[in-house]
Amino acid sequence: MNLEKYIRSIPNYPKKGILFRDITSLLENKKAFQTAIKKMQKIISKIPHTKIAGIESRGFIFASALAYLHNKPLLLIRKKNKLPGKTVSQKFKLEYGTDTIEVHKSSLNKKDKIIIIDDLIATGGTALASAKLVEKCKAKVSAFVFLIDLFDLPGNKKLQQHGYKTHKLINFPGH
Ligand code: AMP
Repeated sequence: MNLEKYIRSIPNYPKKGILFRDITSLLENKKAFQTAIKKMQKIISKIPHTKIAGIESRGFIFASALAYLHNKPLLLIRKKNKLPGKTVSQKFKLEYGTDTIEVHKSSLNKKDKIIIIDDLIATGGTALASAKLVEKCKAKVSAFVFLIDLFDLPGNKKLQQHGYKTHKLINFPGH
């Protein structure tokens, strides 16, 4: 099944110059969503891991299905001030300004090997900050899995340069 055709591309959203890759059109097609999850499942079944982490918010959709299927704990990497317990934070740069992501301190320990899931990788800022967050908690990153890689943007390469293993199902240009 060709998953590419289930992704809707919306020019100039949320602002001028951005070509938004919309996954809602894939989620609304049950076969396409099932295929995406099955492909991710096949990838992660070969990677040793103890927990599966999703990056807020679209990463949650895929991470929760995979955690359920793999009988593994689901970890939420959330935007600042969303988690009620004691958290560990990581700041990262956006095009304009900065953002912060957090994880519950109690969610990770040094024995953990984490697969990090998101819908899309672009500049890699969010993914790299997620890896730092996991490592701040003394856990290891086993791999990243993305539905979409915007291959002409530096994210995927940046992660690989930092020594992380990355997997993706769909390659799209960023513009
Ligand atoms: P980045 O940190 O630049 O790799 O951005 C990754 C995050 O931003 C992901 O969680 C995506 O959901 C979102 N994102 C960035 N660029 C796009 C795009 N062109 N279309 C859809 N989502 C995007």
